[in-house]
Amino acid sequence: MKKNIAEIIDVSNEVYDKGLVSGKSGNISARFGDVVAITPTLKSLSNLCEEDIVLVDMEGNVLTKGKPSSEVFMHLEIYKKRSDVQAIVHTHSPYATGFAFSNKKLKRLEGFGAIKQEYLSYIEYKKPGSDELAKSASEGIGDEDVLILKNHGVICVSDSLKEAMLLAVFVEETAKTQFVTYMLNSAEDND
Ligand SMILES: [Zn+2]
Repeated sequence: MKKNIAEIIDVSNEVYDKGLVSGKSGNISARFGDVVAITPTLKSLSNLCEEDIVLVDMEGNVLTKGKPSSEVFMHLEIYKKRSDVQAIVHTHSPYATGFAFSNKKLKRLEGFGAIKQEYLSYIEYKKPGSDELAKSASEGIGDEDVLILKNHGVICVSDSLKEAMLLAVFVEETAKTQFVTYMLNSAEDND
């Protein structure tokens, strides 16, 4: 478990350093059997230590010291619905979240897993930290590995923390590419 907690801290740092989360936003978790290790509430992902990571059971009962992320039930509901998911990375990465606030859908680009559908799945806005968001996100993700939360952010799931993080990076790059494409297409031609 110690090694796994160290991995959550490493991934938290990486997600922060890559600019996918800022301030005290974002949360990351990993499942170990019936226990989920999750980043704490009201702390930046930039410099967490081992004691900051909170262990909860599948009902959300806290097994260690500290207070888990306010999105702990969103994580737990996804784990309950998806036995294949072992790690969840939730970010407010700027470009992807920009799309989440806009009326434009994000296309799924070539470069990460099979393209099952043209656009990334999304759900309508629900209050952060609410049971409604937990329910809606766990239903909305279906068997996809990315879910856009309208007016909020992004959820990436995988069978490992590293893969979920790489996916979050890829989604953000995807959003940047599409943003640039929209800009170029809307710019006046000056040839
Ligand atoms: Zn959030």
